[in-house]
Amino acid sequence: MTSTVPNAVEHADEQQPPITMFGPDFPYAYDDFLAHPAGLGQIPATEHGTEVAVIGGGLSGIVAAYELMKMGLKPVVYEADQIGGRLRTVGFDGCDPSLTAEMGAMRFPPSSTALQHYIDLVGLETRPFPNPLAEATPSTVVDLKGESHYAETIDDLPQVYRDVAAAWNRCLEEGADFSDMNRAMRERDVERIREIWSKLVEKLDNQTFYGFLCESEAFKSFRHREIFGQVGFGTGGWDTDFPNSILEILRVVYTEADDHHRGIVGGSQQLPLRLWEREPEKILHWPHGTSLKSLHVNGEPRPAVTRLHRTAGNRITVTDANGDIRTYRAAIFTAQSWMLLSKIQCDDALFPIDHWTAIERTHYMESSKLFVPVDRPFWLDKAVDDRGNPTGRDVMSMTLTDRMTRGTYLLDNGPDKPAVICLSYTW
Ligand SMILES: Cc1cc2nc3c(=O)[nH]c(=O)nc-3n(C[C@H](O)[C@H](O)[C@H](O)COP(=O)(O)OP(=O)(O)OC[C@H]3O[C@@H](n4cnc5c(N)ncnc54)[C@H](O)[C@@H]3O)c2cc1C
Repeated sequence: MTSTVPNAVEHADEQQPPITMFGPDFPYAYDDFLAHPAGLGQIPATEHGTEVAVIGGGLSGIVAAYELMKMGLKPVVYEADQIGGRLRTVGFDGCDPSLTAEMGAMRFPPSSTALQHYIDLVGLETRPFPNPLAEATPSTVVDLKGESHYAETIDDLPQVYRDVAAAWNRCLEEGADFSDMNRAMRERDVERIREIWSKLVEKLDNQTFYGFLCESEAFKSFRHREIFGQVGFGTGGWDTDFPNSILEILRVVYTEADDHHRGIVGGSQQLPLRLWEREPEKILHWPHGTSLKSLHVNGEPRPAVTRLHRTAGNRITVTDANGDIRTYRAAIFTAQSWMLLSKIQCDDALFPIDHWTAIERTHYMESSKLFVPVDRPFWLDKAVDDRGNPTGRDVMSMTLTDRMTRGTYLLDNGPDKPAVICLSYTW
């Protein structure tokens, strides 16, 4: 349980099938497909070697390219910046190279079993991420409206936090059939998932996260809503999502996307980088020893795409920053969709009008992180008061606050080894 406020309905029964991303929108067994000995699918042999454009070399693009290559197609990856995209691991000048900071994604839920498949495939390890009050987090400070509370478990926090937890549980149960959906997802009961979700979409399609809380008897108190907004669930601090659709939040909560997080040892960018170089054991059409890297000139993706348009025969013609123009029968676009409105020249025929409208309505959140390298995880030391008497507390704790820093995470690599503080993470 990583929540400051525990997630709704704790399921103690270990015998139950796990929660995975087999959820309301994507009731597909991606993990089963990936584990299938026959692979993800087949391409007629006559089409082997056909080029497919893959635009964007983030994890989506690299995974898509890797799987297409295994099926015997020739992915042509375009990347404007670095392989990895929003999986971006950076080092610190003058520090031990093993000391890294995650500028993008840094924690992943075990329910993301398809992600785990690729993590295992390339031999990466994960370890628990020190979220607020997670088991891996020695202590947490919740600092709201000038009042600080030190806690090792939720029981150390004042009663109001447990009241807020209870309110969230009640609100999810009464307003969003939480237990029912949880059971249906564990059992992969698509019919039941669809039945529950369709009713919720009808009921909540125009409801915001904040509106959902306000409508609930359990959250009548403004103070409770405020506290909930700051400490939330999982990683905490969900108030910036208050104006968003409650359906988005339910997707996260049902799939436990914000729970039991783990980080990738050595940095998450290694995952797409290793996939880029990986030579799959099972590969069609291409000789053994083929990798995405070996399929690309100089082992590098092609540069940024600058123009996309449809050409005769319903082909997609791609122009890149070097002025190179190539035509494909298929292209996979994985870059941020607003690139299609800002950086890439597109013709109207690329998508039907309602797709363009949806792209226009996509909103992005900005975020920023500030990391500081330190020579050892001093926060694990025990604090003393002014007179030198032990206080029984850690010197410093993972901190959730309504001040400007919002979230401070303490990331160690073992005692006496260089460590990193994510001093501030805002979004
Ligand atoms: C600060 C931050 C923290 C996050 N934390 C988490 C987390 O803890 N856990 C989690 O699960 N998720 C997290 N995410 C989200 C996660 O990082 C993304 O969902 C995921 O990395 C997206 O992968 P992608 O391949 O779909 O897109 P991206 O990684 O964005 O890849 C798209 C790629 O397209 C490239 N591109 C753009 N324009 C062009 C062009 N014209 N031509 C060619 N290429 C182009 C970009 O350079 C980029 O490499 C976080 C994101 C951010 C920004």
